[in-house]
Amino acid sequence: MLNGNLKLAIQKSGRLTEKSLQLLRTCGLDIENYSDRLLVSSRNFELDLLFLRDDDIPEYVQDGVADIGIVGENVVIEKEADVDTIKKLGYGKCTLMIAIPEDKNMLSLDELNGKRVATSYPKILANFFRNNKIDAKIIQISGSVEIAPSLGIADCICDIVSTGNTLKLNKLKKFTNVFDSEAILIGNKNFDKDSGKYAILKNLIVRIESALNAKTSKYLMMNVPKVALPRIREILPSLKSPTILPLADESMLAVHAVIPSDTFWDIQNDLHEAGASGLLLIPIENMIL
Ligand code: ATP
Ligand code: ZN
Repeated sequence: MLNGNLKLAIQKSGRLTEKSLQLLRTCGLDIENYSDRLLVSSRNFELDLLFLRDDDIPEYVQDGVADIGIVGENVVIEKEADVDTIKKLGYGKCTLMIAIPEDKNMLSLDELNGKRVATSYPKILANFFRNNKIDAKIIQISGSVEIAPSLGIADCICDIVSTGNTLKLNKLKKFTNVFDSEAILIGNKNFDKDSGKYAILKNLIVRIESALNAKTSKYLMMNVPKVALPRIREILPSLKSPTILPLADESMLAVHAVIPSDTFWDIQNDLHEAGASGLLLIPIENMIL
C-alpha cells in the first residue's frame, strides 16, 4: 500500500499482540479490530499496521517492507537484524536462561565447558559463550527445548523461562541467566529524515513516550492542614512542584502531585501521620514532560 503512511509491524498473534495494540490505543490511535487481516490502517493517524509472525519482523524492518516494528529484543538479536533500536517498551519482559537437570550440581560457568546445550536461540547463546570464554556445543532445536536432556540429546538447555513450572515438569532447574529481554520498537536504518513518514514517526514516538511515562506515574490528591505543608512537601517524591489549592476551610489546603506509582505505599503512612486526609490516587493516561 503506497499511501505515505508509516508502516508498523507487530506480532500477529502471540504474547506481544494485545499489549502492543493497547499501547497504540493509549497513544490515541483508533485501530479497528483486525481479526484475520494482514494489514489495518488507523482511522485517525497516518499509520498502517502489518500483522506478522514475530520471527519475520526484524527482517521486514531491515528490508524496509515495514518502516518500524515492535518485537522482543531476543528475536532482534537472534536474527542479527541490521535495524535501529528506537525505544524499549517495558512489556514482554522475559529471561533467556540456562537450566540443568535437577539431580546435577554445577557451581561455576566453567563447568559448562564440553557440555551440549539445546536451544532455539543459537546466536544469543554463542555470544554468551564467547563473552564468558566457554567452549560448549550448541544443539539447535526449534521447539520443546526442555525435553532435550531427558531424550539424551543435550546435557542442559537454554530457553526462555517465566514461571519455572515447565522446568520443574521436566526435572530441570535454573542455572544462570543469559539474556534479559523486553519488547522494543525498532526502525529501518535508512529512514529519510526529510520525509513525511519521518515526521509521523517523531509524532508517534512522542505519544509512546507519553504513554510510557504515564504508566509509571500516578496523580495523588489529598487535603492537608496548612501548617503541615512543609512536612508534606518533604515526604512527596513529586516529579514537579505540587499544585496547592485553597479549600473552603481556610486552615486546610488541597495538594495535588504526580508521583512514581511504586512509591505510594511507602509514603502513604508518613503522609497520614503528617496530617493528610482524603488521599486519592488516580491513574494517568498520558504525560508529556
Ligand atoms: P509467533 O507465532 O509470532 O512466531 P512465538 O510463539 O514465537 O510467536 P510468543 O510465545 O508469542 O512467540 O512470544 C513472543 C515474544 O514474547 C518472545 O519472543 C519474547 O520476547 C516475549 N516473551 C515474554 N514472556 C515470554 C515467555 N514467558 N515465554 C516466551 N516468550 C516470552
Ligand atoms: Zn516466533
